[in-house]
Order: sequence, then C-alpha cells, then structure tokens
Amino acid sequence: MIKGARGYEVPVIYLDTNVEGNSDYDKTLTQFLYSGDRYYRLCQEIVLGIGGVRMLQELGYVNLNKFHMNEGHAALLALELYKKCGEEHCDMEALKKRCVFTTHTPVPAGHDRFDMEMFKRVMNGYMPDFMLNKGSDGDKFNMTLFAMNMSKYVNGVAKRHGEVTRDMFPNFKIDSITNGIHTFTWTTDEFKKLFDEHIPGWTLDPYALRSALQIPEKLIYDAHQKNKRILIEHINEKYKKDFSTEVFTIGFARRFTAYKRPDLILSDVERLKKIAKEKGKIQIVYAGKAHIKDGQGKDTIKKIISLANEISDDDIKIIYLENYDMALGKLMTSGVDVWLNNPQLPLEASGTSGMKACINGVPQFSTIDGWWVEGHVENVTGWSIGKDSYKHMEESDHITDSESLYTKLENVIIPKYYNEKDKWMRIMRNCIAFNASFFNTYRMTLQYVTNAYLY
Ligand SMILES: *Cc1c(COP(=O)(O)O)cnc(C)c1O
Repeated sequence: MIKGARGYEVPVIYLDTNVEGNSDYDKTLTQFLYSGDRYYRLCQEIVLGIGGVRMLQELGYVNLNKFHMNEGHAALLALELYKKCGEEHCDMEALKKRCVFTTHTPVPAGHDRFDMEMFKRVMNGYMPDFMLNKGSDGDKFNMTLFAMNMSKYVNGVAKRHGEVTRDMFPNFKIDSITNGIHTFTWTTDEFKKLFDEHIPGWTLDPYALRSALQIPEKLIYDAHQKNKRILIEHINEKYKKDFSTEVFTIGFARRFTAYKRPDLILSDVERLKKIAKEKGKIQIVYAGKAHIKDGQGKDTIKKIISLANEISDDDIKIIYLENYDMALGKLMTSGVDVWLNNPQLPLEASGTSGMKACINGVPQFSTIDGWWVEGHVENVTGWSIGKDSYKHMEESDHITDSESLYTKLENVIIPKYYNEKDKWMRIMRNCIAFNASFFNTYRMTLQYVTNAYLY
C-alpha cells in the first residue's frame, strides 16, 4: 500500500513467477528487468499483460473501468480483455474505451517488436488472427501498434512529444499529457521549511507554489546555498576534492545514451577553459549510468572521467560521481547552480530531472525539447540551447548546438551569475512559481483523470 498525503491508500501488487509448479526457467521470469533475450522479454510481457488481468480478477477487482498501459509492455492485457468478453461477440468499441495507452519515447529501441514467427509460436494459438493483425508490422509483432489499435485514448508525455508521435503514427488520434515529478519527494528539507512558512498547504496542492513569487528572493538563494554546501561537502569528502560553494556549478546527470549527448559541453575544452578564465570560474558535476548493452554510452562515461582527470583543477573542476540513484539525483539537482540538459531534438519525450531542479530553485539550460518546450521562457525560467524547430534536423546540428551552448554560457549565464545576483535570484524564484507549480504529478494525474480516464 502506498499512502498519500491525504491518507488515501493505493495498493501496489507485484507479480511473481517464482512459485511451485513453474519450470525452473519460468521461475526466473520476474527476476530481471532488463536481461535475457527477446524470448525472455516476450514471456515477461505475457505474464504482465495476460497474467496481470487474471491476477486482478482473482483478487476480486472485477469490472474495472480503465486499464492504463505505460509503453507496450502490458499491451497483451487487451487480448485477455477480448477473451474475457467473449471474443467475436465482444463489443470492440466498448473494449477500446477501457484501454488507455501512453507512449514514453520516440526512440525506436523503446518500442517492443517481436519476430512474428517466434511470437506466434509462443502464443501457441491463444491469439486469434483478427487480433494478431492489430499488431502486425511487416515480419514483426509490434506491441506499440497493438496497444494503439486497442486503445481509444492514446497520448505522448509532453506537447512536443505528442507532435512527434503523431508524425510517427499518422493514422492515430494522439493527445499529450505532460509529465511531472512528485513534488514532496523531490523538494529538499531546506525548501520544505521555506514553503511551510510562506505557502501553507503546498504539499496537498502544489498549484499553490505559484505564490512563491511572494517569498523574498534572498531566502530562496540562502536555502539553495545550503543545498549547494551539502553537495560540495559530499564531493570534497568522498572524492578528496576542493570544490567551492562560491563557484558557478553546472550539473548533468542522466542515463548515458548517445542522444542525450553528455559530452557536448566538453566538445571544445579549450574554449570552455577560456570562458572560465575570462568570465568566471566553472565547476561541473556529472553522474549517470549506461544501459548494460550500450557500448557507446559506457565509452562516453570513460571519456568524461579521463577528461576530468586531464583538465587541471586550476582551469575547470570536473567530477564524475558514481552510483547515480534517486538520492544522488536529489543531491545534484538541488545543489548545482544550473541544470544542463542537451538532448538531440526531437528525441527527449519529456525529461524530468530539470523539473527536480525547478522545485529547489535551480534554473535549467537546455535544448528546446520535451517539457522544456513548455517550461522555457528565456531569461525568466532559464535558457535555451540551439534551435526550436525539430524538423529538418541535420548532421551538423551538434556543432550549432555546442556553439550556442558556449556563446550563451559566455555572454549571458556566467556574467549574470557573478555580476547580477539580484536578477539571478529572481530567475531562481521564477522556476518555483512558474514551473514547479505546473510540472508535477498532481497536475499530471488530474489531467489523466479528466482527459483520459473520464474520456
Ligand atoms: C530523475 C532521474 C532520472 C530521469 O531523468 P531524466 O531527466 O528524465 O532523464 C533517471 N535516473 C535517476 C536516478 C533520476 O533521479
């Protein structure tokens, strides 16, 4: 049971195949999230989709109105609902009304596709041709396509991602509901204290954070400096460094994967050194893991660690922090001065770490993709990198983007940080009032209720 701030309890139920009566192989199916081959993956999705519907029924959850699929992983639940409502006697429109489908990435690897031969062999006659056709994609069975065909309401996770998904699947009606973060989880103790004093009721109603505009900027800056000190002390103790709370600090932490371009800011180290020398000192804090099968992602981590060792601390201090997890994510998003985000357009569906920064008064510097299309107001909530349009992308875009990154860092961001602290503090406060009040799960869930579940 997960208990909410209002005392309401939501059950979370786990499926476990490690039970007597199953074969040794089948017992392993719920053991690993990302492991094994395509066959293993398909078996897992059968357990989740078909097994999930059966499990709910066994537990007495009958006549459920809505089934919400996040990505195609659980899509076979629609097959089980079809079986339960009497196959060809089934009212397909009514069935589709019970299914909601959310896609979370435009990156092809994020969409499950199974070899049709294998798929049919594993399903072993359980899935009628009529249903097989709904996921048929050349010689593959495409879970995303199947989920879309079986759901009346389909959405992407930011406005831009909705557009991109409509381009990918032109035959479907696709809406968007922008992601959010769980406000209370990602607010640091320092900011909780500040909000408790100035914005009563903010935990039950994060919209109230819009009145952060009433909090004196200096108090926000002071709360941030305390968070920054916690991060810097962590770095200095654990890694024997001498990072400073007075130096402009850039943070970057993500899954290390090519489209997120973790090394973009290090593409011209000499230029970065020059900016640090002429405009003001820079510290960079990195963290992030790569997927086990992503060789390029792992190479980028190695490259960053070796650059961090090569570059003299007198020029720019760079550190890569190990074991990126939620605790470190919170420490970093709240403790740096600017959150850097530079995915290649249009591949970031939403992104959420920049929202974690916002709630703790940290502005974002980002390419205009994902949620930033909606959250960015130049010099008000942060800064943009590169162009706004994702159409007609070119090979050379990473050069234009790094040029844009350096130019803005040099001429706008660093001078503002060191020379115009009052304006800087106002931007910090705007992040809370304009963005944290909106990019949260409270607003997001309400939109799912009104736009998807009551649809
Ligand atoms: C927030 C978070 C993520 C996701 O961040 P994005 O900006 O959406 O890529 C991944 N891992 C950890 C540990 C996080 O805290």
